[in-house]
Amino acid sequence: MSISKTIFITGVSSGFGRAIAYQALQAGHKVIGTVRKPEDLKDFEAINKSRAFGRILDVRNTDDIKKVVAEVESTVGPVDVLINNAGYGHEGIMEESSMEEIRHQFDVNVFGGIAMMKAVIPLMRQRRKGHILNITSMGGYITMPGISDYCGSKFAMVGISESLSKELHPFNIYVTSVAPGSFRTDWAGRSMVRTPRKIADYDELFDPIRRAREEKSGNQLGDPIKAAHAILNLLGSDSPPAHLILGSDALELIREHLHRFNQDTTTWEALTRSTDGGL
Ligand code: NAP
Repeated sequence: MSISKTIFITGVSSGFGRAIAYQALQAGHKVIGTVRKPEDLKDFEAINKSRAFGRILDVRNTDDIKKVVAEVESTVGPVDVLINNAGYGHEGIMEESSMEEIRHQFDVNVFGGIAMMKAVIPLMRQRRKGHILNITSMGGYITMPGISDYCGSKFAMVGISESLSKELHPFNIYVTSVAPGSFRTDWAGRSMVRTPRKIADYDELFDPIRRAREEKSGNQLGDPIKAAHAILNLLGSDSPPAHLILGSDALELIREHLHRFNQDTTTWEALTRSTDGGL
């Protein structure tokens, strides 16, 4: 068995969070797992009576985050690994979505993750040791119509993760953006917030996309248990990467995107270079 770590995971009630927590406990690690409902807390702690530590937390509440992190550090022990997993997808044409829906998406997916990192970084920095994994998405590298603010939130987290990995490298703290493709979790099912349709102009583009996502929910290519094994594997690395893609669908789409990006930059290279000032 690998060396036992103390792993803090947000959102362990279902999906990736649940799978990673379960596999980490099986592997002998201690897991602090956050949930939003008391029944999920009981359910999580029942996985392992001595090494599963449930805490109630909504990641939108920064004050609670600080309290929970301080409390677990003194009762459970120093957090070796933070897995910022809690998040959800908002599906909606931007013109049809309210500012409140869009802000909420960023509050959870971006500011929740930042607040978690700000709570653990000072402790990890003092110890000169730590690993932060942000569960981003292939939607943080490529885009699709109808989930612009979800993609925006994930692009934000990819950028923040990569920049932060450079700030924290001198302190032996690694930051990895973990970007899954489509996986069989509750993401496109009970967790997804779908803005009701209003503007007929978008019907032709968006209705088939919404229908396809609803129909595919539960039958996606990716297996969250295999993702959990991959993530635990990463925790054993001496030099974890800044980016890890999970799933062949994500790999192909991101590669295709990078290829098109390279082609475009080459096509427009002369115009790009034309703005340099003369010396
Ligand atoms: P999931 O099964 O719906 O799990 C989402 C988890 O996040 C649940 O535990 C949920 O808690 C929690 N959560 C949501 N809002 C929260 C909040 N405000 N505060 C605290 N916890 C909150 O979906 P999942 O696919 O495992 O999602 C996990 C992460 O993977 C998300 O960041 C998602 O964007 C990302 N992701 C998923 C896919 C995919 O295809 N499944 C692909 C790429 C990225 P409740 O049970 O209380 O709602």
